[in-house]
Amino acid sequence: MFGTLSDRLTSTFKNLRSKGRLTESDIDGTVRQIRRALLDADVAVPVVREFTGRVRERALSAEVSGALNPAQQVVKIVNDELVGILGGESRALNFAKTPPTVIMLAGLQGAGKTTLAGKLAKHLREQGHTPLLVAADLQRPNAVTQLQVVGERAGVPVYAPHPGIASEAEVPTGDPVEVSRGGVTEARAKLHDVVIIDTAGRLGVDQELMRQAADIREATQPDEVLFVIDAMIGQDAVNTAKAFLDGVDFTGVVLSKLDGDARGGAALSVASITGRPILFASTGEQLTDFEPFHPDRMASRILDMGDVLSLIEQAEKAFDADQAASMAQKIVSGDGFTLEDFLVQMQQLRKLGSMKKMLGMLPGMGQMRDAIDNFDEREVDRVEAIIRSMTPQERTSPKILNGSRKARIARGSGVTPAEVNQLLTRFESAQKMMKQMGRSGGLPGMGGMPG
Ligand code: GDP
Repeated sequence: MFGTLSDRLTSTFKNLRSKGRLTESDIDGTVRQIRRALLDADVAVPVVREFTGRVRERALSAEVSGALNPAQQVVKIVNDELVGILGGESRALNFAKTPPTVIMLAGLQGAGKTTLAGKLAKHLREQGHTPLLVAADLQRPNAVTQLQVVGERAGVPVYAPHPGIASEAEVPTGDPVEVSRGGVTEARAKLHDVVIIDTAGRLGVDQELMRQAADIREATQPDEVLFVIDAMIGQDAVNTAKAFLDGVDFTGVVLSKLDGDARGGAALSVASITGRPILFASTGEQLTDFEPFHPDRMASRILDMGDVLSLIEQAEKAFDADQAASMAQKIVSGDGFTLEDFLVQMQQLRKLGSMKKMLGMLPGMGQMRDAIDNFDEREVDRVEAIIRSMTPQERTSPKILNGSRKARIARGSGVTPAEVNQLLTRFESAQKMMKQMGRSGGLPGMGGMPG
């Protein structure tokens, strides 16, 4: 997601780098390029208009005289404004003062609600909550069964008094409002502190869907109504979001399918069109493909300044705390990053599930997108085999690796000496990148610009 937009914005900034001062026409040219990039990414027209208007105004105004060079100033302004259209501050879930907290999910059919219900339940369970899932989508064939499957995977019970329908041929009979109300009662009786209600969606917005969702809202008085929107739906996103805002109203947004390669305009439009914050992002079909949404981190990801914070936060989940702290320290300082660390890092990254996604978060990866797309997980095995064939001393001081040592390692790991050399070269450049990240305070995209 955002690959093309990211590339285009980055190349716009590149054009500015050689300039010592920006004239009004430089700024206008830049703003024009930004406008085109956003429109091509399917960002809603009014959002683009407001965004570029503010960037232009700020770039022309007196604030552009600080310590940053012109290119950095423009990057900073665009970054600030991106954070703004993505909703500004991150916002966490609201919990009820008296449990259970009721969370209702709404959105079109296929938006990713049921999948999200499982992800959210798992996320909350990991935070010490005791959620209950409620199967109130009695409309989509097999939605109830699907919720039971994700509930089981998430280790969270599902309240499903009605089986729903098993095929398009069946006529829905159950009453989703009753099921939802019953779910809240069940949660109270069994001391669940959070209730997540999965509701039905239609393929398109329609009156009956809205009325039903509004009835569920009325009956259960949710603390949060989360509108789940498929980030890949393009310009339609705006109308869908507005229809749900008018018909049901919602307190927050969840972007799903942010892992897709669509242009992502929906993601960039929905918060500012609806005035509701984005709380979570769904980034794949697995229950672990889920993260709290941070506008600032998303903005820096789009601007390809890397997302060191997300990286560290995700790494913490897989590393134990001490290991995480020392790895974070090494990433930040760039000191003492050894082959051993390189291996641990690769293994931990793999543990996190999606290697590709993690690479996408590292700074400076914009130009390496092709390489990332072609990333081969088997490569991790090869690297592991090579490093495992080294002695501890070789792992900490790869400089001692002469021809005969390399030949021994190659034999031990079943690769060619050339592959050993390749790994060493890659390790050196990773080490260099770590140092660079450390020096520029974790934002090499900006640090790399001439000052
Ligand atoms: P619902 O009708 O709103 O309940 O939608 P589902 O949860 O059934 O999701 C519809 C389809 O989208 C399913 O095939 C899901 O596996 C898939 N899906 C859901 N969330 C994501 C996501 O974040 N990324 C990707 N790639 N697919 C997703």
